[in-house]
Amino acid sequence: MLRYNLSYWERETFFKDFDVAVIGSGIVGLAAALHLKSLHPRLNVAILERGVLPAGASTRNAGFACFGSMTELLDDIARFGEDQVLSVVEKRWRGLQRLRALVGDENLDFQSLGGYEMFTDDEEEIFQQCREHIPDFNRKIGAITKHNEVYKQVDELLPRFGFRGVRHLILNQPEGQVHTGKMMAALLRIAESQGIKIFNGIAIKRMEDSSQGVELETDAGWTLRIPRILVAVNAFARTLLPDTDVTPARNQVLITHPIPNLTIEGCFHYDRGYYYFRNIDGRILLGGGRHLDNASEQTAEFGANELIRSALVQLLKTVICPGRPVEVDAWWTGILGLGSVKKPIVERYSENVVIAVRLSGMGVAIGTLVGQEGAEMLLNE
Ligand SMILES: Cc1cc2nc3c(=O)[nH]c(=O)nc-3n(C[C@H](O)[C@H](O)[C@H](O)COP(=O)(O)OP(=O)(O)OC[C@H]3O[C@@H](n4cnc5c(N)ncnc54)[C@H](O)[C@@H]3O)c2cc1C
Repeated sequence: MLRYNLSYWERETFFKDFDVAVIGSGIVGLAAALHLKSLHPRLNVAILERGVLPAGASTRNAGFACFGSMTELLDDIARFGEDQVLSVVEKRWRGLQRLRALVGDENLDFQSLGGYEMFTDDEEEIFQQCREHIPDFNRKIGAITKHNEVYKQVDELLPRFGFRGVRHLILNQPEGQVHTGKMMAALLRIAESQGIKIFNGIAIKRMEDSSQGVELETDAGWTLRIPRILVAVNAFARTLLPDTDVTPARNQVLITHPIPNLTIEGCFHYDRGYYYFRNIDGRILLGGGRHLDNASEQTAEFGANELIRSALVQLLKTVICPGRPVEVDAWWTGILGLGSVKKPIVERYSENVVIAVRLSGMGVAIGTLVGQEGAEMLLNE
């Protein structure tokens, strides 16, 4: 890392007079900065981002605009209770509407193609459990989404998709998908058009809050002092704030080359959500499998895991696209922020610092709301 001091010119021209700095330019950081400007248009807001682009989860996810597949919700109810799960579903639903209003469906390339959960031949028991819960979930989640029939068994669609060894499908009708790259490019564009100054290539190493504001030390060695700070670094929270309940979780993702006559459309969850895939640009994007090697994937470092990658290729070739010539075009990884509770942390860390982190696998849905909450908390004395 290049180490140097700021010159007088740099300090007085580029970093002077900011009222607030947001650390991290993912969905949460951008949404927070935009909300600060909408509440106080004259506020000088900077975003400090360590990557050339946002470098965590927001430009590296699957783009599912989803609020809950049935096995995920049943699992979560068993762990956290129904009230908490329904309140997260409500937040995910509201967050998606807010994202769509903020960015616009065209900019998001939002597609209402539904979300599916698929059940293989040996998952009959768990499928029956889900099926029994459909009426109850439709009543409770229908009240949130205002849809009559949110969940629906649609086994008749299986021949169209052409999976192998899959016996049942449950459709979540109001779910959709976005183009993650377009979404983030649009959010960055909107932020810049609102006068928010985004600095890339600045990693904050240390923060110290005092009555004179917050001193930030960058990894280049120079420091900045800014009155108020919103920390939106999600999975990387512990490097700045070691006592935060956030654990990084790496996810492996592949994209295929275009597949001729691809008939798979929508977002799909499989094996209690451990695997997920969707169509995009005539290709399949497939990710997950973290449970196969949890210990190695509990890391904030990008990088390959060959065990998981070969399981994903196997799933692609034998279950999702059996008997078709399908080749992997590229791989990448993204880092989720998880915790002991499946709920974001939005809280005041010290007098002038608020944190908005731990978005789990739900940040496309709830990121804008979490950013908004963080911004409001920062402005409340
Ligand atoms: C593979 C994958 C698939 C996913 N699929 C979906 C999905 O389909 N639907 C869904 O709703 N959610 C999904 N998610 C989750 C979603 O992407 C995240 O919850 C969301 O992007 C989190 O946004 P964020 O702004 O909190 O964090 P991030 O996007 O991770 O942003 C944090 C930013 O902080 C920066 N940063 C970190 N430390 C520092 C520092 N010290 N100084 C300066 N900058 C720093 C990072 O570079 C990063 O840009 C997925 C996640 C992954 C990894």
